[in-house]
Amino acid sequence: MGDYQAETIASPTPAAAGNELKVKSTNDSGVLYHQLRQKPLNIVGGRGSYLITDDGLEILDATCGAAVSCLGHNDKRVHDAIMEQLQKIPYVYSLYFTNNAAENLSRILVDSTGGKMSRAFIVSSGTEAVEASVKMAMQYFRELSTPQPQRVNFISRTQSYHGNTLGSLAVGHHVARRAIYESILTKNVHHVSQCYPYRDMKEGESTESYVARLAQELEDKFQSLGPDTVCAFVAETMSGATLGCVPALPGYLKAMKEVCERHGALLILDEVMSGMGRTGTLHAWEQEGVVPDLQTIAKGLGAGYAPIAGLLVNKHVVDTLTLGTGAFAHSQTYQGHPVSCAAACRVQQIIQEDNLLPNVREMGEYLGRLLHEKLGDNPHVGDIRGRGLFWALEFVQNKSTKESYPPSKKVAWTIHTTGLKPEYAISLMPGNGGADGVNGDHICLAPPYNTTKAEIEMIVDRTSKVIQEVLG
Ligand code: PLP
Repeated sequence: MGDYQAETIASPTPAAAGNELKVKSTNDSGVLYHQLRQKPLNIVGGRGSYLITDDGLEILDATCGAAVSCLGHNDKRVHDAIMEQLQKIPYVYSLYFTNNAAENLSRILVDSTGGKMSRAFIVSSGTEAVEASVKMAMQYFRELSTPQPQRVNFISRTQSYHGNTLGSLAVGHHVARRAIYESILTKNVHHVSQCYPYRDMKEGESTESYVARLAQELEDKFQSLGPDTVCAFVAETMSGATLGCVPALPGYLKAMKEVCERHGALLILDEVMSGMGRTGTLHAWEQEGVVPDLQTIAKGLGAGYAPIAGLLVNKHVVDTLTLGTGAFAHSQTYQGHPVSCAAACRVQQIIQEDNLLPNVREMGEYLGRLLHEKLGDNPHVGDIRGRGLFWALEFVQNKSTKESYPPSKKVAWTIHTTGLKPEYAISLMPGNGGADGVNGDHICLAPPYNTTKAEIEMIVDRTSKVIQEVLG
């Protein structure tokens, strides 16, 4: 129980009557920690790929938090851009005004797509970007010259993650996070299988026939719902948090887009985690031969220097809304926040100035190679997969049956907490539910884009030692 001890207090509500054993903190700052009974390490500083705790431990940040801090910690160039913006104007309400930082960032983003996306809508978190994408898709069909208001269904994929508000939880399929709220999540989101070759590709099945099978499943889902009732298909271009770094197979997203186009539905690609350089190209869809109708971006956009995310919108959607009501029926207080936008502008300039995308590809290949060399034969590592600087290890009890560990063993979380011990001092991103939504532990590795060979070697070495301690 760490810092906490039990005490008996009166039940505060009738609903809690009888539940008399309460806990009281003996070291309580008032923060509601994610793990309520355990205060996490306190990070007081950072430098490059390292986080520094209040007792001076330097932790190798092999995950950039949640695949966020892609420039590493404390790049003075971004600090300066933030200070400069703060001194000009810290906040502007974007319902009434625009600001230069939002204008500049949107221009950078639109240009980065080669003009394929024609507008950027800037918000503060990945979840908000997903919510905005769903709302914009619905508005689009209502404002076509021949409106299609019957398009109220969304199709997404099992073991996907699209955010944590009620709308975005409904779109995703994070079983554990949805569990309590199932009864109030919309029933208009329907799920088809992930593209997950490690577990779902049949013995002897070719990539082409597996992809065709998944496309047929999507087609069948359209047919069962009524093809003209489907608003959009939503997918992570490369699966992240729930499934753990599974790149789409060649031709997969193209095949899924063809199904959408056949039935006039939109394709929403969620690149909150996989976008903005993480997989080796600025936009992960560039490697897939598809262009989405709507695209969400977040983590690598501002590299954690300020909360920021975005929705990139294809021209035909922008044109429809412009000719329709002329306003997006959605607004948030902090959208287009000048300080966040100034930070993100500078981050995006640095990614180009420092030529970081080739480093992501080169170091990513090196990371993948070392993981295979060091852990390929490990009896507990069932799958090693990834692209760019975004790799995952999936853990199994039995390599030939691919049997996962039971969730009660908390394998991924234990690997994460063990990694934080001073003898390893590495931050690893745990995930579970990948195998079937409930079972299946993995860790993700997502170092900064400017990482070095020496750091990659350290990451693989420390990770192997942590796995050895936890799984033997
Ligand atoms: N979409 C994807 C693909 C994500 O990976 C995440 C977060 O991990 C989200 C949406 C939600 O983003 P946020 O946590 O910034 O709200």
